[in-house]
Amino acid sequence: MLISSARIRRTDAGEADVVVVGAGPAGLAAAHRLTRAGLAVTVLEAAPRVGGRMATDRVDGYRLDRGAGLLCPGVFGPGTVPGAGPGAWPPHRARTAPPHDPHAPGPGAGLTLRPFAPGAVLRAGGRSLRVGDLRTTTVRGRRTGPQTRSTRGAFTAARALTSARSRAEMTDALDLARLRATLARLANTPAERLRSRAELPAGEALSGRGLPARTVDTLIRPLLSALLSDPSLTTSSRIADLALRDFARRGLSVPAGGAAALPELLAAALPQGSVRTGVRAQSVTAHGVATDRLGTLGCRAVLIATGAREASRLLPGLRVPEFHPVTVLHHAVAGPPPPAGLSLLVDAERRGPVSHTWVASAVDPSRAHPGRTLVTSVVLGAAAARPVSALDAAARPHLAELHGVPTQEWELIGHHHDPYAVPAMPAPHDARRPVRVLCGLYVCGDHRDVSGPQGALASARRAAVELLRDFGLPLPEEERDALLAAA
Ligand SMILES: Cc1cc2nc3c(=O)[nH]c(=O)nc-3n(C[C@H](O)[C@H](O)[C@H](O)COP(=O)(O)OP(=O)(O)OC[C@H]3O[C@@H](n4cnc5c(N)ncnc54)[C@H](O)[C@@H]3O)c2cc1C
Repeated sequence: MLISSARIRRTDAGEADVVVVGAGPAGLAAAHRLTRAGLAVTVLEAAPRVGGRMATDRVDGYRLDRGAGLLCPGVFGPGTVPGAGPGAWPPHRARTAPPHDPHAPGPGAGLTLRPFAPGAVLRAGGRSLRVGDLRTTTVRGRRTGPQTRSTRGAFTAARALTSARSRAEMTDALDLARLRATLARLANTPAERLRSRAELPAGEALSGRGLPARTVDTLIRPLLSALLSDPSLTTSSRIADLALRDFARRGLSVPAGGAAALPELLAAALPQGSVRTGVRAQSVTAHGVATDRLGTLGCRAVLIATGAREASRLLPGLRVPEFHPVTVLHHAVAGPPPPAGLSLLVDAERRGPVSHTWVASAVDPSRAHPGRTLVTSVVLGAAAARPVSALDAAARPHLAELHGVPTQEWELIGHHHDPYAVPAMPAPHDARRPVRVLCGLYVCGDHRDVSGPQGALASARRAAVELLRDFGLPLPEEERDALLAAA
């Protein structure tokens, strides 16, 4: 059934065709698409600001993300993020620029991603094992994935083995060579093939891949836990393979200026007055939203873009997943910056509560005033629920080991604990959960797709397409192209 083109009721909140509930990345991206298609959209946000779980706090000149904010640059393909200039469309790909690139685009020029050094550094017993650069490279003008049997990789492993001075170094070199081969194989496997593989809990699948337990336990598990925010590795093996594939092909980045740069950019690209912060939706129907401050707003359709728990309160019967809790700690560092540079340090031995940590102000200098240093660290699993004073006390000696510098003088300037940070994705995981509840009522967010901004944006796109279809409106050209490409 199509929705009548006659508007049902005009409202004080800006005559909306569609009311979107929630101004996280999903709600804002959907609002953007619907606005582009010519609909009048109002976005209601309960918090005093946009961003949802991708919010960034500004404290004494530091920018402190509430979430961990690690992204794969490939998340932001064309059609997801508004580019430079007012109304610019189609949007540009997000740009990746190293911290001190003089040619990096300035503020307002679209989303800029600050890349980590290629790979990651796994810290084990005072040793640093660098998982090397496996990202996509350009060979004679052609973009290729890393080569499984690349001569460079073989030489690197051979050189490491021959130069190993001890049995431990030899073991490390072998483990790294195996990990490198595993990542390279995944990087070269088409995503569709990974999506069609048998699905098991990731931890179980790893044990069945013919790799020595030591390689799995010391290298692959810690890396995957950090990528998935899931230390128990119950996540679907398909999702885990795709996460490792993205990591191997593209590395990791953070948005310049903080995670909030993405939702803020999306909000700024909407017509003025579209987003109403500090307004909580109390209940919804297909024709309106009852709010705490603006009464009931009539409209032709409602799109719920909250987290999973609130979505199921507003839409009883909607499934609520389990969640992975996350706590993020932000320390201001006295003295010179720790030597990690642009590397992501991953704890390979679980000798303390921290899963991974990085010098945030080195990767993205806008996170601290010049001359000051910010270190961001992530705690996963049960440890994330500990009271912050106990967690900080336990984290300091662990951070000293990981960063290789004393941490007693570090100051905890921010922390954020969210027991519902990341929706769990156990096997079997449906990454395309329905986004159309009924004609006029839709739902999007990371819980409808894969957890993280990538899933939030993808679900927003699907919800916008379903809604436009119900409205009998033509899909914008880029949506048609994307649907044709996916067919
Ligand atoms: C601590 C933490 C660490 C994380 N780490 C990572 C990571 O490393 N990598 C990664 O990819 N992802 C990570 N995430 C997850 C990522 O932030 C989310 O996947 C993403 O923000 C989901 O976007 P969303 O738009 O679906 O939902 P949200 O960002 O949750 O947005 C929903 C919005 O709806 C609003 N809302 C809720 N109820 C109402 C109501 N009744 N009325 C009006 N508004 C309402 C909320 O205030 C919120 O602004 C992390 C999240 C947290 C919290």
